[in-house]
Amino acid sequence: AAARVRLERERREAAELRLARARDLALGHAEFRAALEGMPQGVWKFDAGNRLVIANSRAAPLLGMAPEPLVPGTPFSAILQAGESDQDGLAGPILRRLRVIAGTDASESFVESEPEGRAISVTYRPLPQGGWLATFDDITERHESERHIRHMARHDPLTGLANRAWLMECLERILAELRLEAEEPERRGGLALLYLDLDRFKQVNDTLGHPAGDALLRQVAARIRQGLRSGDDGRPEDMVARLGGDEFVVMLRTASGTLAEKRDVAAMVGDRLVAALTSPFDLDGQVAHIGTTVGIALWAEDGGTAEELLRAADLALYHGKSGGRGRHVFFEPAMDHEARRRRTIETELRRALFEDEGRDLLVFFQPQVHALTRRPTGCEALVRWKRPGQEGLTSPGEFIDVAEETGLITALGLHVLRRACAEAVTWADPDMRVSVNLSSVQFGMPGLVQEVAEVLAATGLDPRRLELEVTESLLIENADDALETMKRLRALGVGFALDDFGTGYSSLAYLQAFPFDRVKIDRGFVREIHVRQGDAAIVRSVSALCGELGMATIAEGIETEEQLATVVAAGCQEAQGFLFSGPVHPWRLADVLSRLAAPAARAPRMGPPAPLRAA
Ligand code: C2E
Ligand code: CA
Ligand code: CA
Repeated sequence: AAARVRLERERREAAELRLARARDLALGHAEFRAALEGMPQGVWKFDAGNRLVIANSRAAPLLGMAPEPLVPGTPFSAILQAGESDQDGLAGPILRRLRVIAGTDASESFVESEPEGRAISVTYRPLPQGGWLATFDDITERHESERHIRHMARHDPLTGLANRAWLMECLERILAELRLEAEEPERRGGLALLYLDLDRFKQVNDTLGHPAGDALLRQVAARIRQGLRSGDDGRPEDMVARLGGDEFVVMLRTASGTLAEKRDVAAMVGDRLVAALTSPFDLDGQVAHIGTTVGIALWAEDGGTAEELLRAADLALYHGKSGGRGRHVFFEPAMDHEARRRRTIETELRRALFEDEGRDLLVFFQPQVHALTRRPTGCEALVRWKRPGQEGLTSPGEFIDVAEETGLITALGLHVLRRACAEAVTWADPDMRVSVNLSSVQFGMPGLVQEVAEVLAATGLDPRRLELEVTESLLIENADDALETMKRLRALGVGFALDDFGTGYSSLAYLQAFPFDRVKIDRGFVREIHVRQGDAAIVRSVSALCGELGMATIAEGIETEEQLATVVAAGCQEAQGFLFSGPVHPWRLADVLSRLAAPAARAPRMGPPAPLRAA
């Protein structure tokens, strides 16, 4: 039965074909021509001997060639020759490709396009009765919009620079080429990634507005491009990408040579970029000063793949920024170890806070005493971390900055605040102050005031016993908001101490502008105060000014009687340091406080606590 069905179908198809041929003949040449002319495409039909049977009049202009050679009977080779002589049209390349396929018995299509111009889609179709048909379609518009979409997918709309995806794609391709250049590193071209991040961009954006920020980014992009153009030295072009925000990456290609030579080129370009972005920007009459730091990673020393290189350059940038901005910094393997350490800390700290409910994050207390009587006036809460699987306690110096960077400080700070307040209500002296350190990152969080109020309510601590220690950086970064938050916290009854005074910008103006109860003079001034005249003079004048403004001063890091005597002479009312006690576990605190309160025991020195685990 199947065979019969097939036979039947074959017979029907053969009949239809005969009918179609008859219709073709009946239609005659004129009507066939009219049908061809009505088509938007160009059409050529060739016979089995590769001679032109018919060409519609769309074909020649589409291909950009003269219509004269397109008369029926002309051999394809002659048309090819005519097309080749048209220098800049698409006819040449299209005809050359057609020559290769003409006569084959499979349909095929391809697109031929000019770099910034037209695009023609060509379809080749062999005919069942021999010969072949070619159609030409102008797809410039579609091509253009595709190109536009492709461009959009690969570029940053604001600056027109490549985006991250496109940078990585190009980088992979170029690295693959470079790897093939030669076995020996010195004989192949070099490639460096320069990772830039703008200084003070956020300030410009915040103070002058987003349109100004956008304009600035565009100008930065232009300056980077200019900084790279090094004339006709025959080098392949460098690529600039914007990774988002105020981060840019330059892919710099250098000639073959020793590693030192390649480094020199990268350093020179790095410095040039720093200089280019350091000179002021004109934003519609407003002058903006920014700057940049550049992290540099070299292929293949610092990373073999695009991802590795980008990471290395990013790490170098990160280190560059923390060690003084406005310069270039090369990647070093040690940076990788540091990054790994920080990642481990982040993971473990997250677990300690959210899975173990802060069980391993202990809060120690260090007494603060009246400088003359040595009676305790308050205690500073200092966090300690009992990391699982590690000996001893980890010092906050090792994880506070990671917590700030990752936002974990919000949860950590709240945990410390809760613990500190809960402890303070158990202290024998109902007036004893409890001081809690507050990071400026926490200060920027919208829920802070509410959180503090809740902790006070939950623990029942008298708000007047709580003092928050903040640093100058807070006041510099966002003075208006900081002042507002301080006022709202003050309204709860909470006090404030300015921590680490003298380490930052140390502007005395802050003392007048912000409502502090106490100024903590940094350990750095105290350490050699008995030998360095200048330090004593500073402490004296700060104490005098604070006295006038109604603020107390407390000297941090007092380790010796000599230091204590000098800060007392300079006018400090309070002191804190190993001379009195180091930070102690809550269950030891009561003993320490009563020892300090007892007159007989006040004078002898109490040694520093067991050292924390080293970094
Ligand atoms: P800080 O607020 O300046 O705290 C004083 C630091 O000096 C403490 O180090 C303390 O142990 C140490 N210290 C006290 N007396 C002496 C002394 O006589 N000699 C010497 N050499 N050092 C002394 P610690 O506990 O390692 O804390 C380091 C920093 O970590 C703190 O500096 C503070 O900025 C930060 N920190 C500690 N706990 C917290 C916290 O709960 N939240 C926040 N945001 N930061 C914290
Ligand atoms: Ca402090
Ligand atoms: Ca301090």
